[in-house]
Amino acid sequence: MSPSPADRPVLTMTSALSEVMSAARRREAEGLRVHHLERGEPDFDTPPHIVEALAAAARGGETHYPDARGNTNLRAALVEKLRRENGIACGIDDVVITVGGTHALFLALQGLIGGADELLVLSPYWMALPKLIGFTPGAAMRSLPAYLDLQSGALTPAAFADRLRGALGPRTRGIYLNTPNNPTGAVLSSDQLGAIAEVARERDLWVVSDEAYEHILLGEARHVSIASLPDMAERTVSVFSFSKTYAMTGWRLGYVVSPPAMRGAMGPLLSFYTTHGVFPAVQSAGAAAVTGSQEAVAAMRAAYARRRGLLLEGLAGQEAIRIPRPEGAFYAFANVRAAKAGRDIWDLVREWLGLGIAVLPGTAFGAEYDDWVRISLASSDADVAGAARILRDHYAGAAAAGGPA
Ligand code: PMP
Repeated sequence: MSPSPADRPVLTMTSALSEVMSAARRREAEGLRVHHLERGEPDFDTPPHIVEALAAAARGGETHYPDARGNTNLRAALVEKLRRENGIACGIDDVVITVGGTHALFLALQGLIGGADELLVLSPYWMALPKLIGFTPGAAMRSLPAYLDLQSGALTPAAFADRLRGALGPRTRGIYLNTPNNPTGAVLSSDQLGAIAEVARERDLWVVSDEAYEHILLGEARHVSIASLPDMAERTVSVFSFSKTYAMTGWRLGYVVSPPAMRGAMGPLLSFYTTHGVFPAVQSAGAAAVTGSQEAVAAMRAAYARRRGLLLEGLAGQEAIRIPRPEGAFYAFANVRAAKAGRDIWDLVREWLGLGIAVLPGTAFGAEYDDWVRISLASSDADVAGAARILRDHYAGAAAAGGPA
């Protein structure tokens, strides 16, 4: 009998994002103004000098099969960037260019886990993780709440290390972390990362460090790459992306830095089993992004920080929604327990859609987050401020009338 998708659960996993987006489109077709706070994609265009670099490279003939591991130029620029910004000392052979961070994660997981291995995923986590692990035959995922407690300070680094130790099983092969974090906006400090590093060294684990939002920092917090901590480069696979930093989501450009022990796996994974590399002209544009002016990056960062203010200040004066202050990425993870008033989280998401506000249910980021929603700041100032006003009026009114409806 031929295989059917039902034999592979990963092929039938649904997506909360597409469900919310299509519900929002239906509302818009009915004439409702929807404030789009559900998407995880910069609302800015790619800076013009990067677009020009693509055009010039394509005109210059960079249209042939790429080197599967990536252009030497781009990889050399990244080696320098990794040294300067991330404190990661590596050579060109340790860097591989991928079709976005998603592909980088896919390769990392295919290379690291399989058989009966388990990956410990700190939660809440980016919603693609269960799918990415699901494509790795036999591998299992175990999730462990981390970011909210680290963000609030309730979990000290020492207690965090103990929590990690308690979650490891005999088959745990590695830990996946993401800082700055989607969806909470938590930015892990070097002490917090040190706790992960300590346990990884102690138990001989791999670490997959997803740093897609490394440049989206909203205030004073500094991004630290775990591979820069003592003895961690040899057991860390670090994943980076051009998508968020340079508003290049559609270009599909990312990279992965892995220790020499992984080199043997990365080559075949790239050239035979997936894409055989990335369009060379896109890679040249990537080099222009890394080596050129970072002014546009700073301007986008300032816009996300401004919208965080619009959201947090706009919601002042109501009790139904509580938001731990995000320090990085472009999301706020909002506790809506009081607003939900005992209902299912999807009931609240649908109620908010009726008010003209699209967000994602927290359960997309881990089953236990059914009192939470993710609010994206990668939307216009008007959408963020407008949504905050609607919600404040809705819940301030509800409180006056005797509690949130
Ligand atoms: N990691 C995280 C945490 C993300 O949120 C995303 C995109 N939403 C990615 C990786 C991958 O992005 P891309 O494939 O566009 O580089």
